[in-house]
Amino acid sequence: MAYVITDDCTTCGACISVCPVEAISEGEDKYKIDPDTCTDCGLCADECPFDAIKQG
Ligand code: SF4
Repeated sequence: MAYVITDDCTTCGACISVCPVEAISEGEDKYKIDPDTCTDCGLCADECPFDAIKQG
């Protein structure tokens, strides 16, 4: 069960550097998490200033 980035994402980029497996990338209008790469560690959810990353 991967984490997902909600519409609360402002594309600030705070999450990208904390992901240990580089699962986060820029999407169309918000960032996205590759569910096949995400290891469900939760580091990005802790880092997001807008609480936009939720457990899927
Ligand atoms: Fe990366 Fe962990 Fe966030 Fe998954 S939960 S996208 S592995 S930082």
